[in-house]
Amino acid sequence: MEQAELIWKNGEFIPWEQATVHVLSHGLHYGTGVFEGIRCYDGEQGPAIFRHREHLERLHRSAQLYYMEIPYTADELATATRELIRRNNLGSCYIRPIAFRGYGEMGLYAQSAPIEVTIAVWPWGSYLGDEGKSHGIRAKVSSWRRISPDSLIPHAKASGQYLNSILAKTESAAAGYQEAILLDERGFVCEGSGENIFMVVDGELLTPPQSASILDGISRDSVMQIARDLGYEVRERDILRSELYRADEVFLTGTAAELVPVREIDDHPIGEPGPVTKRLQQAFEDALYGRDSQYLRWLDPITRIRDAAPAA
Ligand code: PMP
Repeated sequence: MEQAELIWKNGEFIPWEQATVHVLSHGLHYGTGVFEGIRCYDGEQGPAIFRHREHLERLHRSAQLYYMEIPYTADELATATRELIRRNNLGSCYIRPIAFRGYGEMGLYAQSAPIEVTIAVWPWGSYLGDEGKSHGIRAKVSSWRRISPDSLIPHAKASGQYLNSILAKTESAAAGYQEAILLDERGFVCEGSGENIFMVVDGELLTPPQSASILDGISRDSVMQIARDLGYEVRERDILRSELYRADEVFLTGTAAELVPVREIDDHPIGEPGPVTKRLQQAFEDALYGRDSQYLRWLDPITRIRDAAPAA
């Protein structure tokens, strides 16, 4: 991975190499952490963070669901992130805040282990590759089912939960595919290992509902709003695996991947990116880069006047 100069850790800006943790950190042993993946785009109005507030609110909600209290408000984390991007002199970059139980107490009920919070930013290109974004990727339905809501919390973006995504991703990569598609515990389509999924049938957009154990993706929400604004019907409903094979178009959405067409699933050809996917991909990218005034409300510019006071 590429590095930057500084990382924000528990209120301070420290050199990248010094941002280390104790080997007995609780989160390392048991996965007790919650995190976000956010992107900043160097667009029309200069660098701006896409849907910053929604991501930080999800971070706080994820923490609450696992009985963790983040000792910084969303506003404090937002200010720290903007300052971190400025101090690292970055334009377009990926942003990774994480809050985890640190060193201090072992065992499963470790309420006195402190909550540590760090934010890292670094340049990171499209997660599934530029080729995948323009020509589509090959995906495989995983033999691993998505975590079910009666054993974990699909709506939380929690560190330990990602072992499930890693099993699916590893299986698909070993079989020569670029992404895994997970079914939920009932056997309906859920999502990619790190992306939500959409299909287009007869001009209508369909995507699995919240009750299919999805992570409530912020890119998913953005693409649904953009699609409706463009006049498409968008419906959340359960989707069968075999419906994906017969769909006119299929694509994935996520902060790291952005909007990626799927051209093949389980060796069934879907085809090169279709007209709806291409139109939405363009419109989404215009929103990300501040080229569409309708969606400027989603952008948090990093050069805010109210951050300009000298940092302590
Ligand atoms: N599902 C999973 C499991 C993810 O990790 C992600 C990435 N955060 C998504 C969906 C997409 O969410 P978002 O659009 O908010 O990045």
